Amino acid sequence: MPHVLVLNASYEPLGVVPLRRALVLVLENKAHCLEESGALMHSATRTIPAPSVVRLKRFVRVPYRGPVPLTRRALFARDGGRCMYCGGVATSVDHVIPKSRGGQHAWENVVASCRRCNHVKADRHLLELGWRLRHKPAPPSGLAWRIIGTGHRDPRWLPYLQPYGADDALARIDGISA
Ligand SMILES: [Zn+2]
Repeated sequence: MPHVLVLNASYEPLGVVPLRRALVLVLENKAHCLEESGALMHSATRTIPAPSVVRLKRFVRVPYRGPVPLTRRALFARDGGRCMYCGGVATSVDHVIPKSRGGQHAWENVVASCRRCNHVKADRHLLELGWRLRHKPAPPSGLAWRIIGTGHRDPRWLPYLQPYGADDALARIDGISA
């Protein structure tokens, strides 16, 4: 099922919902459609264009959401699909300080890694190997990361995500072949 980008009344991206949920928001007059997908939705009594982007009519106060969720997809995007040790094509996730030695599963301690580096490194510290990271790992910032990290994408969303870091996020995702 297609997904729809939901914007706050302030145009801030809130999230991505299944089309059916977005239609309910529109039909209940809680949101209006900003972009149509081109498809038509039929109910018993009417036909309406399927939305691709909707905007809430009332501003919703969003609680502080913490860092962007750490997913494999978002991590590979942050690291451009490249191994943070050797620059090769990344295929796995590595904990810089190994979990077995107290390393956290957090943005600051995980990197995309190629299978070989991951295997060679095993549960050792970088100092023991004399290795260096190509960049210091940090959480990505910008609301667009939350949307793009869902894996749902639609070119019609882009103008609404661009003020929130979409160019940076997408440029890195597009560098990933897998
Ligand atoms: Zn590598």
